Amino acid sequence: MNIPQSNLPRVVIVGGGFAGINLVKRLANKNLQVVLIDKRNYHTFQPLLYQVSSSGLEPDSIAYPLRKIIKKHKTTFFRLAEVEQILPDKNEIITSIGHLTYDYLVIATGTKTNYFGNKAIESSSMPMKTVPQALDIRSLILQNFEKAAIADSKEEREAFLNFVIVGAGPTGVELAGAIAELKNNILPRDYHDLNPDDMHIHLLEGADRVLPPMSKHASKKAAKFLNKLGVKVHCNTFVKHYDGLTVTTNSDLTMESETLIWAAGVTGAPVQGLKAEAVIAGANRYKVNQFNQVEDYANIFAVGDIALMTSEEYPKGHPQVAQPAIQQGELLGKNILRLIENKPLKPFVYKDKGSMATIGRNKAVVDLKHYKFGGFFAWFIWMFVHLMSLVGFRNRVIVLFNWTYNYINFDKAARLIIRPFKK
Ligand SMILES: Cc1cc2nc3c(=O)[nH]c(=O)nc-3n(C[C@H](O)[C@H](O)[C@H](O)COP(=O)(O)OP(=O)(O)OC[C@H]3O[C@@H](n4cnc5c(N)ncnc54)[C@H](O)[C@@H]3O)c2cc1C
Repeated sequence: MNIPQSNLPRVVIVGGGFAGINLVKRLANKNLQVVLIDKRNYHTFQPLLYQVSSSGLEPDSIAYPLRKIIKKHKTTFFRLAEVEQILPDKNEIITSIGHLTYDYLVIATGTKTNYFGNKAIESSSMPMKTVPQALDIRSLILQNFEKAAIADSKEEREAFLNFVIVGAGPTGVELAGAIAELKNNILPRDYHDLNPDDMHIHLLEGADRVLPPMSKHASKKAAKFLNKLGVKVHCNTFVKHYDGLTVTTNSDLTMESETLIWAAGVTGAPVQGLKAEAVIAGANRYKVNQFNQVEDYANIFAVGDIALMTSEEYPKGHPQVAQPAIQQGELLGKNILRLIENKPLKPFVYKDKGSMATIGRNKAVVDLKHYKFGGFFAWFIWMFVHLMSLVGFRNRVIVLFNWTYNYINFDKAARLIIRPFKK
């Protein structure tokens, strides 16, 4: 892998997501050799993927080159590779570009889409976990509009204009709101040959309310906003089968749709090689102690979505969102330095900064510990927090410009089928 030999302890970090990049920043220019490995050469700001899918933003405003993050780190290296296996007895990993030994290994591989074992849904639906997947959704939506314009029958047109989103967590709700804005603002202006009333957005949720991880107050407000935008919400509804056209559910509901977007859940993406007990079955997350050490491995750590740390307050582990990943990455950076200096490690305590979701222009819900609110102010806070959390000054400026332009013009500028999607 062409990593120079040195006398410095080597820390290998697998994954340049929120946890990985915050860790790598803490270890910059210290007495360590750091190797960051990711199968992509960029960091993805996943909270805004839905805006790429719905033509609001171009992908380069939410992705950031990993090499640029470490450009001033003199003893840090980046390698574009997939880590395939860990050999803990040899302190070594096997990657798609070769073997590498480590003194400390940090696994920050995040999650992958969970289809709950349904192969039919996996092969026919559209996941939204990566930039290429978000671009596929964008292409499919725009291709469907074009196909609907030349459809021979009403049934055929309806199937192209029926958009089914499964999972009414923040991702599903945000995407449903954004697609509804395409229907309400773009279709009437740019697609004279289509009737916006023929377009339907269905949001399916297995729980009895939208935004199940948030407060009941937020769910109620979000359901009201979705209704206002024309999104049809179906709670207590599970998809049983989808063959690329017909959606079958546990209730009487069946629909014809060319587009089923799967936002129903994630599961951990562990790397092979550690003993079975280190990975919690079902969740696929590494069982870690309060210092993010993987159980029974003194020099292997897991951080972010892939780590499951239980505490009295979080008996099922922390939520799989950005804040725990950022906070764990930062603390582990400090702890690795303490470990090398033979100082005692500091335990992780999660500082919950609240949760939020936007449902479209001027509409969002925010849950803080002692205060829950929705509407314009919540939307403003949502925008500010997401803007400030983006990696890179250029990305912040471009996103701010796009949002302002879209807000003033009721437009979505990125409506381009650059790479057509083939089903
Ligand atoms: C669509 C969507 C919307 C979201 N919205 C929000 C939101 O609004 N607010 C919020 O707080 N959270 C949100 N989340 C969750 C949030 O993005 C995650 O909690 C966060 O990204 C976790 O960070 P991480 O570093 O653990 O993993 P990730 O950010 O997923 O990073 C993992 C990295 O590991 C790399 N990788 C994985 N396996 C390998 C391997 N074997 N070899 C090499 N590299 C590998 C991947 O390429 C990736 O870069 C959203 C997630 C999604 C998918």
